[in-house]
Amino acid sequence: MIVILLGSPGSGKGTQSQSLAQKYGFKHLATGDIFRAEIKSQTSIGVKAQDYLKSGKLVPDSIVIEMVAGKIETGGKYLLDGFPRTLEQAQGLDSMLKRIGSSIDLIVFLTLPKEEAIRRMASRRTCAGCGEVYNVISRPPKAAGVCDKCSGQVVQREDDSEATSAKRLMVFEDLTHPLVAYYKSEATFHEVDASPTPEKVEAALSAVIESVKAAR
Ligand code: ADP
Ligand code: ZN
Repeated sequence: MIVILLGSPGSGKGTQSQSLAQKYGFKHLATGDIFRAEIKSQTSIGVKAQDYLKSGKLVPDSIVIEMVAGKIETGGKYLLDGFPRTLEQAQGLDSMLKRIGSSIDLIVFLTLPKEEAIRRMASRRTCAGCGEVYNVISRPPKAAGVCDKCSGQVVQREDDSEATSAKRLMVFEDLTHPLVAYYKSEATFHEVDASPTPEKVEAALSAVIESVKAAR
């Protein structure tokens, strides 16, 4: 089963994917997390990607597509978080899946007003060690600045600064939002309102996943 979570930065894709992957046994493929890990260990992909992440731009499609292609295997159960992000990546994914005899089972677009996305990115904090996502208002770590899971340092992601998150939202509108039109006519396309609490959004996403599983 292949599931795509689409949504603006700040819409909660990462938070939701972490819990859904655990609940349903998906492999969580989060391109942003992968890039951050590659940057941390200064691999050749990391070195190529770092300036783009820092400035809130997209990493070039060819780099992203090649990286994802190296991670998708026949028969795997994947939850794609943050990929595809452009039409070219969507086409790249289609041919990747065709090659391994697979197809997309579910595409969920998480909808959220821009003002709320900005608010969420400003209050988001992330563990520098394991990538766990927190929020100073709605989901603080038990001890301030310390990750509940790995005791790593909980910090603000460099690209969650006010100027860079605004830039990322513009990039989303220009390059990623058009994917809604690309996927909208598919029977596998669903929209879920991302404005309620994380628990409520998770319940709505679970209901959609259950319905797809039941129909398979
Ligand atoms: P968010 O969804 O909150 O913006 P991510 O962690 O998914 O955060 O992405 C962070 C950054 O990683 C993006 O701004 C971009 O630079 C890079 N990135 C992640 N996924 C992709 C992708 N599919 N294509 C190009 N760049 C990507
Ligand atoms: Zn951690």
